[in-house]
Amino acid sequence: MVRHPRPKVVVSECLGFRPTRYDGNIIYDETVEVLKKFADLIPVCPEVGIGLGIPRNPLVLTRNGDDVCLVDTKTGEDFSRRMNGFAHSFIADLKDVDGFLMKSKSPSCGVGDAKVYGKGWAVVGRSDGIFTKLMREAFPLLPIESEKRLLKYEIRRNFFTKIFSIADLRETLSGARLRELVEFHRRNKYVLMLYSPHLLKKLGRLVAERDQREQQELKREYGRAFLEALSRNPGRGSYANVFMHLYSHVKENLVEKERKYILALIEGYRMRRVLLKTLIAYFRGFIYRLGNEYLAEQRFIDPYPEELEQMREDE
Ligand code: SF4
Repeated sequence: MVRHPRPKVVVSECLGFRPTRYDGNIIYDETVEVLKKFADLIPVCPEVGIGLGIPRNPLVLTRNGDDVCLVDTKTGEDFSRRMNGFAHSFIADLKDVDGFLMKSKSPSCGVGDAKVYGKGWAVVGRSDGIFTKLMREAFPLLPIESEKRLLKYEIRRNFFTKIFSIADLRETLSGARLRELVEFHRRNKYVLMLYSPHLLKKLGRLVAERDQREQQELKREYGRAFLEALSRNPGRGSYANVFMHLYSHVKENLVEKERKYILALIEGYRMRRVLLKTLIAYFRGFIYRLGNEYLAEQRFIDPYPEELEQMREDE
């Protein structure tokens, strides 16, 4: 079984930590509650961080020429500069971080879905909240999701795979021995194949050249390319490609009927008739049954703790 590291994840504080909402409320979120057991969460409320009280007037994003500003709906006061200053000092204090889980729709924390208002309070677009935007600029290769988007299985699997793999990378690169990097690369082969077959090859070459390279430079280059690979989002074709590779590893141990069934499932997934969750559960089942240690230890098969896999689906 794969050992799972503890990712460090920045989380909007109103998601189950403290009643910091403008109306004094707190939001219960199942993902955050389960994640508390397996990750080190770093709660932050940017609006409280810039000195606003609880409760307070609601804020909104408004378009002002090319700029988007964070303003008080009642007084019209612009808090954009204060938020900028707070975000930069927050970033400076942040030691290690593997991802961000932010509150949807908020003008400060939203992830692509905060309303932007124009003249006469007409909605002229949607964007990241102002704090989230600054985090994205500072950490362009790290995963950022909202609690609402994580209700969808494929988005949730992607996010969890990324934060646990990035935490594993962080721990591996902080170790003294290059042997650990070789093991890391081995167990992440299919995760890398999923996100970027091109970078899988590049990273394989880096690991193979380890004896000829300066150690710190090699680790830096490997870490950067790994994050770059995981900053992408795979489509169905990428998943189907990985499943076909896994299948080719085990087909000799399967009976004819089972082979046909698996190929039909992969094709069904490609054609949107089979769910990703179903296909993954099926592959895990027969990989464990066949006792294939190499595949059972792959992060693609076991990317994060099982309890996170068994969460409620969005209807
Ligand atoms: S959404 Fe963000 S700014 Fe608003 S209360 Fe939650 S943590 Fe604070």
